[in-house]
Amino acid sequence: MGMWMVAGNWKMNNLTGEAVALAKDVVSGLPPIAGRGEVVLAPPFTVLKSVFDVIAGTPVALASQNVFFEDKGAFTGEISSAMLRDAGCTYAIIGHSERRKYFHETDENVNLKVKKCLATGLKPIVCVGETDEEREAGITEFVVGIQVKKALAGIPALDKIVIAYEPVWAIGTGKNAAPIEAEEVHHFIRNVLGETHGDASRNVKILYGGSVTADNFGELIAMENINGALVGGASLKSENFLGIISRAMEKNK
Ligand code: PEP
Repeated sequence: MGMWMVAGNWKMNNLTGEAVALAKDVVSGLPPIAGRGEVVLAPPFTVLKSVFDVIAGTPVALASQNVFFEDKGAFTGEISSAMLRDAGCTYAIIGHSERRKYFHETDENVNLKVKKCLATGLKPIVCVGETDEEREAGITEFVVGIQVKKALAGIPALDKIVIAYEPVWAIGTGKNAAPIEAEEVHHFIRNVLGETHGDASRNVKILYGGSVTADNFGELIAMENINGALVGGASLKSENFLGIISRAMEKNK
């Protein structure tokens, strides 16, 4: 039992027409989620406003896929947390493995972004996860533990924080983690949060991400410490995304 979250990371996909159509299909197919869970859409920056116009007044919330940690000024190409609030965002995905890999984001950047979001009223969805090599080397917990601790260094409260555990080897590969394998890491993350922040760790949503589909999500969401999903590929088709949401509804039973 517990509130869940299903967030769709559209990555670099969807022009305005496609984005509006997809958001409309998600809204119209949504089961009654009030008091049960949260559904979040994370479109590219260029269509945030168009998607916001579709979801405004519905239970669906908006997220950005990234944010910069400065307030304003000479940072060509960057987008501030206040701008994202202004565009209708409630959440910001921070430290996605693609940003860490292709744009060299560090745990220190992630920490600055988390702090700026909290200071400006945006809720961070902080992504962590080990690579294939790190799992093979048996250092998954070591790596994920450091990522979690560094992301949340100096953050006094966890009530606005969502964590997404996304094993890098499972993202976009069709190889999702076995439910028990994922649960072990989720349990570990909750213990790390317990060490750093005490009892508040119990209420933090820890999402699983990595090749989630409606077919494999039922077994994942049944795990005690898995509170939802961050979905890439399967969030681009409303029937797939809505299928994942109906699996999440099982968590309320
Ligand atoms: C993601 O991008 O966060 C993700 C988990 O992608 P996919 O579901 O496509 O593996």
